[in-house]
Amino acid sequence: MREMSPWREPVPAGGTMGEPQARGRFGEYGGRYAPESLVEACREVDEAFREARADPGFRAALAELLALHVGRPTPLTPARRLSQELGVRLYLKREDLTHTGSHKINNVLGQALLATRMGRRRLIAETGAGQHGVATATAAALLGLEATVFMGERDIERQALNVFRMRMLGAEVIPVTTGSRTLKDATSEAMRHWVGVTGDSHYCVGSVIGPDPYPWMVREFQRVIGDEARAQCAAELRTGVPDHVVACVGGGSNAAGTFAGFADTSARFVGVEAEGGAGAALGRLGVLHGCRSLFLQDDDGQIVEAHSIAPGLDYPGVGPEHAHLRELGRARYVTVTDEEAVGAAVRLARTEGIVPALESAHALAWVIRAAGEGELAAGSTVLMTLSGRGDKDISTLKELL
Ligand SMILES: *Cc1c(COP(=O)(O)O)cnc(C)c1O
Repeated sequence: MREMSPWREPVPAGGTMGEPQARGRFGEYGGRYAPESLVEACREVDEAFREARADPGFRAALAELLALHVGRPTPLTPARRLSQELGVRLYLKREDLTHTGSHKINNVLGQALLATRMGRRRLIAETGAGQHGVATATAAALLGLEATVFMGERDIERQALNVFRMRMLGAEVIPVTTGSRTLKDATSEAMRHWVGVTGDSHYCVGSVIGPDPYPWMVREFQRVIGDEARAQCAAELRTGVPDHVVACVGGGSNAAGTFAGFADTSARFVGVEAEGGAGAALGRLGVLHGCRSLFLQDDDGQIVEAHSIAPGLDYPGVGPEHAHLRELGRARYVTVTDEEAVGAAVRLARTEGIVPALESAHALAWVIRAAGEGELAAGSTVLMTLSGRGDKDISTLKELL
């Protein structure tokens, strides 16, 4: 049998990337801004999660699912040819090799297992391009739960294949016709729906966003990326710790999970956002979808729609913990254009034989730029999370190349 991924014991409160402070705060960000009935539901999720992660039985069950169904641990691959070209030592944490092709499955299986433990029979989720919806439908099928996925009408038109995939997996896909009929509206609608069914349904949030406890719970379910990478770096690198840890940031879950594994080290954290969805780099303080964080807004405080060639980076905000890490100076957030990301995707394909998801290509585009501009010193070590594979983006790329 495969070696089981560690699903680590809880990190005590107080340390960076441990538990949030009182009332689900990361500094001035986070919190639980929700209608009263959802505040109660969130409290139940919080309590169940705290119990579950302290329970060795739960941790073992999740580790087994991750090993047998997801294919964890994922490799840490040295990008040999590209490293030589760039003059740095680049290592890729291969979330593209997981079942369903991205890191989203790590979080979704954790929450699905938690839902089962709470006696819930159904998962509710929102989805933009359909990736979180497909992951949720997959986890629901695996654990014998029902799945209801809210999706903007416009996204349904644009992502017909993922809609089919969700339905094939047995999920119900509900079109959302309000607002811009995209992810932001689907999220609002999913939360509204949850109000009436909290007793039998668990709301499965797809990133480190939403009301407490979601931002840190999702980060803890994604911590497996960072913990595995840390152990793999210890075996690969002389110092055991890379100089830089880099990941793309939509809501910020693959980045938070990766950073968490290196929180107590001197590694420098870089979160790479799409220029048109740069909540951390360009957003302003606001409250949306249950938490206080940084969001793209116009002068009246209205949320501005995000635009990126990478559907997973198309969220107008960023998780509260990233806003906090940025303020502390523990992590930097930088932006990359669509063009740079496409260029990076082609470069990885041709040097390493890996077609990355366009989201992940953003992280790589920054590495390429920073190496070229001398921001990454020659010979420095860079760990980058390759959050997903590019199969879903092939038709987009085909139109451009
Ligand atoms: C959804 C997605 C992302 C962005 O989500 P985060 O929560 O920021 O990690 C990044 N990469 C891929 C492949 C995705 O599917």
